[in-house]
Amino acid sequence: MQTTNIYASIITIGDELLIGQTIDTNSAWMAQELNKIGVWVKRRVAVGDSREDIWQSLDEELKQSDIVLLTGGLGPTADDITKPLLCDYFGGKMVVNEQVLEHVKNIFLRLKRPLLERNLKQAEVPDVCEVLMNERGTAPGMLFRRQEKIIVSMPGVPHEMKGLMSKKVVPLLLKEFNMPVILHRTLLTAGVGESFIAEKIQLWEEALPGHIKLAYLPNYGMVRLRLTTQGTDEKALQAEIDHLFKELQELVQEWLVADKDEPLEKALGDLLLARNKTIATAESCSGGYIAHLLTSVPGSSAYFKGTVVAYSYDAKETILGVNHSTLESKGAVSEETITEMFNGLMKVTTADYGIATSGIMGPGGGTDDKPVGTVWVAVGSRAKMVAKRLHFRFDRAKNIELTAAHALLMLFQFVKENG
Ligand code: AMP
Ligand code: MG
Repeated sequence: MQTTNIYASIITIGDELLIGQTIDTNSAWMAQELNKIGVWVKRRVAVGDSREDIWQSLDEELKQSDIVLLTGGLGPTADDITKPLLCDYFGGKMVVNEQVLEHVKNIFLRLKRPLLERNLKQAEVPDVCEVLMNERGTAPGMLFRRQEKIIVSMPGVPHEMKGLMSKKVVPLLLKEFNMPVILHRTLLTAGVGESFIAEKIQLWEEALPGHIKLAYLPNYGMVRLRLTTQGTDEKALQAEIDHLFKELQELVQEWLVADKDEPLEKALGDLLLARNKTIATAESCSGGYIAHLLTSVPGSSAYFKGTVVAYSYDAKETILGVNHSTLESKGAVSEETITEMFNGLMKVTTADYGIATSGIMGPGGGTDDKPVGTVWVAVGSRAKMVAKRLHFRFDRAKNIELTAAHALLMLFQFVKENG
């Protein structure tokens, strides 16, 4: 299957990215969008607000790629130097673009803010670019061409960049380049490590055709398996990858959580919906994070009843009815307390299923027999409860995330096994 790859480079600009003050989420998102339409992302480069560095990276990436996408440095302040630099780089001069000017004026009128000279500067663009109107902000996108290559500069604000990418850049790239088809199918497994899965599917994996790639993506005690294929005949590729994906699903059936690339909370929500069941949570150490994950899924009101964040002894006693003597004698992080929390939760809600958490997230608060990272999780129904002691070794934020992931997974497995 012979196709020519279309290569792209992404250059993200800003000192804040280099020192880690802002996480470069733009290039990850853009890479995914490019990948979806069949563009091969060759490099992602972050550079500071320095004329020399941006210039050099443009030279470098134009040698590598057919498409160069830039974000950042388009604001109205002195540290934003991308626009004049691009103007020089492509040998143009700055001119006022009437359409952008009108757009900027309208935005300020709507916001009832005074329009400053520096804001009007946003309407100036190099005369050698095609303007891509930015409906979500004042700084326009700019498209430049060099030989057969396309260079697009976009604002750094993620919401504005995404609007431009979706509405302008992606449609344009699809029109200008003859892209190969890239197809992915992803499934989610839980309960076994990637090495174990690799052993189990070894023969099948070795027999995969050369143009099909299998990736293992482990995270939080779960493993995503992604099949990728690339070629020209979309129909044939789709049929082939669907067939292989079905085989893969059968091989890992025991640990299969979802046959799509979706988070665990969505898979759990779908399972509850399918069975017409509901859930509530009683969270101590996870502080409502499980509830947050569950409610991040649109439509979760159909199965999520609510949460009790019972952080203190007092809240555990008064809201969930945990015995003072249990807390005093066994501590908040114990099988006895988590059991009483779970039972209390089932009393104060009408949910079919529940999750309760209590643990020591760190950095302080650990003891010899209950070190930092010790967590008790209980999941179950009105008929049965399962409690488990877990231990995580990370920082506070990661321990909270892991607690939530494991609790959701425990309930997912409980529902599957106990109905
Ligand atoms: P700028 O266009 O450089 O003025 O960037 C505006 C804002 O967008 C910055 O203050 C950052 O918060 C954000 N930003 C810039 N680049 C990125 C990036 N690569 N990823 C995520 N946010 C970014
Ligand atoms: Mg900047």
